[in-house]
Amino acid sequence: MKRTAQIMLRRLVAVIAVLGLAGCATPRPQDQAAASRCAPDHPFAEGGERATLWVRGSAEYRSSTEGIYRAALRSLQSGLADAGWSAEPTQTRGFSALPPAVVMDIDETVLDNSAPQARMLLEESCPGEFDALWDAWVAARAAPAVPGAAAFIRAARELKDPSGRQVRVFLITNRECKERAGVASNCPQQDDTLSNLRALGLDAPTLDADLMLKSERPDWSSEKLSRRQQVAREYRIVLNVGDDLTDFIADLRGRSLAEREKARCRHDVWWGVRWFLIPNPMYGSWQRALGPDPGAALVQPLTPSTCGKAV
Ligand SMILES: [Mg+2]
Repeated sequence: MKRTAQIMLRRLVAVIAVLGLAGCATPRPQDQAAASRCAPDHPFAEGGERATLWVRGSAEYRSSTEGIYRAALRSLQSGLADAGWSAEPTQTRGFSALPPAVVMDIDETVLDNSAPQARMLLEESCPGEFDALWDAWVAARAAPAVPGAAAFIRAARELKDPSGRQVRVFLITNRECKERAGVASNCPQQDDTLSNLRALGLDAPTLDADLMLKSERPDWSSEKLSRRQQVAREYRIVLNVGDDLTDFIADLRGRSLAEREKARCRHDVWWGVRWFLIPNPMYGSWQRALGPDPGAALVQPLTPSTCGKAV
């Protein structure tokens, strides 16, 4: 009797498993609509639900960013007192007498764009729709601050180096200057971003010059090195805050996971001291490095941290 019950139970489990698999394999109506609408691509933010929910709703994300910004402020004070301290790898000499600066990325570092990310998920937006959706979001000037970011910027600007010179905060962003229908400015994104920052209480007498957008000048590409180097010609860069490895390290586009690991390890001791990385699980250059197939990436063995050997 006991054995019969076991056989029946096994059969029941098998039937449930088959039904479950069949359920997974059958696209939901909205999946079919999105798949055909986006063909041959997948929806732009596909698979980002948990990451976006974490950023938008979790106390863990807020504790993380606020803690990082508090630690960054403490490090900034240490760096200000040390004239030999720079957070820019190419700033290797002749910088000790320069006034101090902090460089920061904007999106997912200072401004929180989880709202359009959520909208793209809900609407299953296609990659081809991204540019228009993004520009409409920038034009709305409505991004809230990443928790801790506004307080950090205000406090950083109040700090001075031993010569009494105040810290200047440069915002290096890949928000791109692009013409917009019906708008006379050749960079409406600059006006939008300035307005958004001012609405968050982040105005400064130099804010216009402190904001450095992609394509604002001919040599300001998505590679941020030229903009950091421009700052470094006149300022000692004491701290760098961003959410992507490319905010800190040059020449990473198209690099493999192993190459990115080697690059981050080259400055291992700077993380959490001169470089502060705000978590962004929603998107980033890491996605391209993982390849186009998330399923294949999931079954890859975990790449071990190699910093101990590479430094
Ligand atoms: Mg960013």
